[in-house]
Amino acid sequence: MPQRPGRQFLQVPGPTNVPDRILRAMHRPALDFSSPDFMDIATQCLAEIKPLFGTSGEVFFYTASGHGAWEAAFVNLFRPGDTILMPETGRFSRTWGEMAKTLGLHVETFESDWRTGIDADRVEEALRADAGHDIKAVLAVHVETATGVASDMPALRRAIDAAGHPALLVVDAIASFMTTPLPMDEWGIDVIIAACQKGLMMPPGLSFNAVSDRAYAVSREGGTLRDYWSWKARLDMEQYRRFAGTAPEHLFFGLLEAIAMINEWGTDAVFARHRRLAEAVRRCAACWTRGGALEFNALRPAERADSLTVMRCADGADADMIRFTARECFDVAIGGGLGLLAGKVVRIGHMGDLNDPMILGALAGVEATLRRLEIPHESGLTEAVQFLSETAADPDRRPDGRRWLDPASD
Ligand SMILES: *Cc1c(COP(=O)(O)O)cnc(C)c1O
Repeated sequence: MPQRPGRQFLQVPGPTNVPDRILRAMHRPALDFSSPDFMDIATQCLAEIKPLFGTSGEVFFYTASGHGAWEAAFVNLFRPGDTILMPETGRFSRTWGEMAKTLGLHVETFESDWRTGIDADRVEEALRADAGHDIKAVLAVHVETATGVASDMPALRRAIDAAGHPALLVVDAIASFMTTPLPMDEWGIDVIIAACQKGLMMPPGLSFNAVSDRAYAVSREGGTLRDYWSWKARLDMEQYRRFAGTAPEHLFFGLLEAIAMINEWGTDAVFARHRRLAEAVRRCAACWTRGGALEFNALRPAERADSLTVMRCADGADADMIRFTARECFDVAIGGGLGLLAGKVVRIGHMGDLNDPMILGALAGVEATLRRLEIPHESGLTEAVQFLSETAADPDRRPDGRRWLDPASD
């Protein structure tokens, strides 16, 4: 098969597009990992990632998928028999909960319809009912990537405080880190679990535990027997052993570049860009729903995530056929349904390195798919173009303050 022309649009909800700048930064020979050259890069990454989490606590790096960082948080904080409260949000919270059970934890949960966010009032009630303070922590998925629903993290903090309960707040931010604000210290979050291949625009392979002083203290008293995952062991190590083995050097070369890019933009601009592009997708998708064959999976507009949009198919429309056709006929890769939503939804990722024409191209590819499959819909492309045109930044500006359109300034 000859290679297809052009680029495939990567709109799955992770991994996301890796910017050329990051690819180029990674394109270099390996280094002696105890050399000052590498040490400087690692030290800079370790220091500069903290403000991105909004924490003065420690951030631990694992050469692992997000699942590895999940397990790291579990074994550092809990031991078999401990009780945790983990409200269900969708397939990712379920898998995370199954991991907890495998590790011997007692998991309390509330089932969910996979279409709405975590009910903070129920969390408060459950904590109030736990007079003996058996519940060690509330564990929540911020943006549930199976459903496209974002839950309200400050509301969870308020619920824990209102119940006067000492439970830790542990958040899976794998799909929200660097797409959506989640200032850890300000919002009273004890542990954030993140990974590099979504908002951080990196190839997969690095994941993180950002840990408050309080959570670190809890881990010193509790937790499971552990070595590789141990926060303490890593903190006690000499710098070059912080990774409990060979450092994933090329991921660090890429990470340093990713952090530099984000700092050049500023995190507020990164979050605003995600919000704006997500809104363009939602405006377009709202038109699609008028044909009656598609609807938003997230029932409450305010809970629709800025990281991805999940569209649900009415009976008769085959979600996997949409996904397959979009990829094979129109070179737009979108995600399919997971768990209970398998075959029922498509998931359009809009995280990471994206701009207006990329989003419009992806939407056009999906809309062409709907036409091709004769799935009833109204066109949403004009709506998306209209929204982007109204909200575009002023083109007549340069970093030095001179005006592009003023010939006298050249
Ligand atoms: C992607 C994702 C995960 C899993 O991350 P992996 O790196 O694939 O292990 C977990 N939780 C959420 C919310 C995610 O979006």
